[in-house]
Amino acid sequence: MAFRGGRSVGHAGYWYPGFLVSWFLGVLVSWYLGVLAGSPKIELLFGLSFFCDNPSMASTRIVRIGDVEIGGDRPVAVQSMTNTRTKDVEATVSQINLLEEAGCEIVRVGLPDRESVAAVEEIKGRISIPLVADVHFHADFAIEALKRGADKVRINPGNIGSEPEFISVLEAAGERGVAVRIGVNSGSLHRKFADEPDQATALVKSCIEYVKAAEKIGFTDLVLSVKSSTVMTAVKAYRRLAKEADYPLHLGITEAGTLLAGAVKSSVGLGVLLAEGIGDTIRVSLTADPVREVQVAQEILRSLGLRSFGPEVIACPTCARQEIDIIALAEEVEKRLRAYRDPIKVVVMGCPVNGPGEASEADVGIAGGRGAGIIYREGKAVRRVSTDRMIDELFKEIDDFITAKRSQ
Ligand code: SF4
Repeated sequence: MAFRGGRSVGHAGYWYPGFLVSWFLGVLVSWYLGVLAGSPKIELLFGLSFFCDNPSMASTRIVRIGDVEIGGDRPVAVQSMTNTRTKDVEATVSQINLLEEAGCEIVRVGLPDRESVAAVEEIKGRISIPLVADVHFHADFAIEALKRGADKVRINPGNIGSEPEFISVLEAAGERGVAVRIGVNSGSLHRKFADEPDQATALVKSCIEYVKAAEKIGFTDLVLSVKSSTVMTAVKAYRRLAKEADYPLHLGITEAGTLLAGAVKSSVGLGVLLAEGIGDTIRVSLTADPVREVQVAQEILRSLGLRSFGPEVIACPTCARQEIDIIALAEEVEKRLRAYRDPIKVVVMGCPVNGPGEASEADVGIAGGRGAGIIYREGKAVRRVSTDRMIDELFKEIDDFITAKRSQ
């Protein structure tokens, strides 16, 4: 099996002659049908059979953003965007610090006015993760942000101004060896494709048009995105883009919504693409505290086995058999574990029915018993604790487990 940054993109282990022939024919037929019909269902089949098994469609170029590399076999990076006024340096830096603490690896700030542009230098000097300047309408803002040390700029060439203005941003970035994200969205397509009836096609064609303009002047430090607020439009667009360009892709479902709806939409859209090996950095857009965006992004990557981010909590869904308040317990455990960085699997179960089974897969766990909790460690019940001591005892076990692991 071939791996790309921790993601599985090939089935080489199954490649024996008979399988290879039938696989190849299946791929060919589903690809042909998918192309002919443009049907999402057929394309899904196409995706599952072809994209998962074809590493060549993933990005091959590696782009550096500050000290983080994305693309090729690099791990999928987690991004978020601040929602403070960027010109309020104190508020912005303190939000970035919280994001970094939560595991954000690249942060983007919007630059809607000159004061915000002027703040880039100080913000950059006070944070330790790469800073991306997000600019609309003003090519000069993007150029100024580059001069002030932005590690990447995100522009939408559809609204940044004329082509010479777009090129001037690329040239300024090129002089500094800084990457540019061409972020196309449905609100600002290339004028040539404004009447294209299929949104996904319009997004991809617009993006490729801008890529060609960049390549014409020799600028290739590009990251691309074709976001949409409609999940299947984004999926279709990114799939096509991944076939046509080998630059790193920034994935996102734009304006995804509030915490629950946005997390679900993003997980579905980004999950499908990432499972196919598409995507090099992700931002989960939520109408919520940006720290939540980082948490959701990490859960998406963790669920797909692409990254591991510190502790993982496995909790039972609760039912009539629960003998402890498992919802409160799981929430408290999750909250306290946010201060931990070691990769530890903690299981929280409502009763002893599934406790031993689940606990056998976890490092440390607790299961509700009659008027008590049972602490597990590496699959074995180690002691009974009173309900009022459950959390403290569980964390005593967690700390002890981590200390033992570190000393190994
Ligand atoms: S662990 Fe116990 S309480 Fe939790 S869902 Fe399973 S049976 Fe119900």
